[in-house]
Amino acid sequence: MTNRFNVNGVMVSGDHFIHGTRVASAETFETRSPMDWDTVLGNVARGNEETAQLAIESATTAFSQWSGLSAKERAVYLHRLADLIEEHKEQIANVECSDMAMLFESLNLRLVPRGAANFRNYADLAVEHEERVWSSKGTLNRVIRTPAGPAVIITPWNAPFMLSTWKCAPALAAGNTVILKPAEWSPLSASVLADLIEKAEFPKGVFNIVQGLGSEVGNALVNDPRVKRISFTGSVPTARIIGKAAAENIVPFTAELGGKSCLLVFADADIDAAAKKAAGQFDDSGQVCMAGTRIIVEQSIKDEFLALFNKYADQHVMGDSRDSKTTMSAMIHPVHVDRVEGFVNRARENGDTILRGGKRFIEGKLWFEPTLIAPKSNQSEVVQSEIFGPVLTFQTFDTEEQGVELANSTVFGLSGILYTGNKERAERVGRLIRGGTIWVNTFLVRDLTAPFGGIGLSGLGREGGHYALEFHSDLKTLQILE
Ligand code: NAD
Repeated sequence: MTNRFNVNGVMVSGDHFIHGTRVASAETFETRSPMDWDTVLGNVARGNEETAQLAIESATTAFSQWSGLSAKERAVYLHRLADLIEEHKEQIANVECSDMAMLFESLNLRLVPRGAANFRNYADLAVEHEERVWSSKGTLNRVIRTPAGPAVIITPWNAPFMLSTWKCAPALAAGNTVILKPAEWSPLSASVLADLIEKAEFPKGVFNIVQGLGSEVGNALVNDPRVKRISFTGSVPTARIIGKAAAENIVPFTAELGGKSCLLVFADADIDAAAKKAAGQFDDSGQVCMAGTRIIVEQSIKDEFLALFNKYADQHVMGDSRDSKTTMSAMIHPVHVDRVEGFVNRARENGDTILRGGKRFIEGKLWFEPTLIAPKSNQSEVVQSEIFGPVLTFQTFDTEEQGVELANSTVFGLSGILYTGNKERAERVGRLIRGGTIWVNTFLVRDLTAPFGGIGLSGLGREGGHYALEFHSDLKTLQILE
């Protein structure tokens, strides 16, 4: 009997999707909506070692057929999947909105369409790719990109649909078969994706999705020597564990990890725009890896900036994510809210100053007030650790040098946001800030062909454009005597 349950009007399967068919597990785990934690949305298959074996066998069997197709032939499937995502946009948005409380409007207008764009982008990029050919030392040299093998893709609970598609698309376009393991706190949109993969009539075993806990089925997947690529997005502690498994099997591994990005504002900036963007870091309740969580402002504009920031932060509405007036969603899980609250409580004990917010919006519920903290020192825990909630810090600087020093003073380096009205400073400081992506006078604008990734504890390797295609390929040089 198939395990399907109604989520916001969509019948979602709680089973795995392996070799083109739904597979159940004897054990299941509950998934609940952060908006209404008392109600169970459904029971999801809790994969184990056996599930991982089945999925890897499936992906291994399908590899010779999929890798034998041309990029153009594979592109047909990827575009068909993109079409289906566009057709089922609202259903996907409804499911993800219930499962992780991301705002429906943001999913429907931005993140689900981006999922379709991810498949289209990689379908076309792989076709456009030209082999490098040149003559040297009397030989014709040709660089050939061959598919690497089955790839395991592990995703986190935030923005699960967009991130899964972003990570699976290059693997498939490059000719690898895929096993996707979504996070156990938001497993459902991946299951809707499985239905669309079936509708798109991918060859069996090309694109498999297994559900379950990271420490169980996730761990079994990344340790299997038949897996030829591991692409991970999540936390630093998990990256360390998966990195060891990848090292054991000598398997290339990318890690997209946490951040503690700066939002650095100079006195010459459009201060209103900068303050508005700073208050916008509370969107998605701060559960965004790239969020500019350390606001660092030139001392001379401190009061003006704070007044504007508070004006915009006051406009946030915490509520049901299906309601278009809501701007701040419930947070993913009670454990995560406790974690965020712990950071704020320790900041108080440490002598940091809570400038606004600092507590749950409604006791017993999963919304946390938009919070701003002026730390006692740059070494305060709230400045140095990723909180991953609606908690920002506020610091000031006097000189450009001090601003850059503060911006670069954590172990992370995922991204950064800079506000300045001076073009030369934009170039100069933009180059000095440590991070994989630095936005100047804007935020979250993405070109899918640009590299994306982190420095330091924010990650290893780059996704995006041909960088991800290369990661998922084995490069070979063919030299023929001329
Ligand atoms: P997490 O590390 O707890 O879990 C991520 C995934 O890893 C989940 O699917 C989990 O089941 C799996 N996992 C856990 N242990 C495993 C193991 N031993 N073997 C295999 N898989 C295992 O992270 P999270 O809490 O889900 O995500 C939040 C983190 O992700 C934050 O640090 C955030 O900044 C980061 N993130 C980074 C990016 C980026 O692009 N850099 C994007 C989104 C989120």
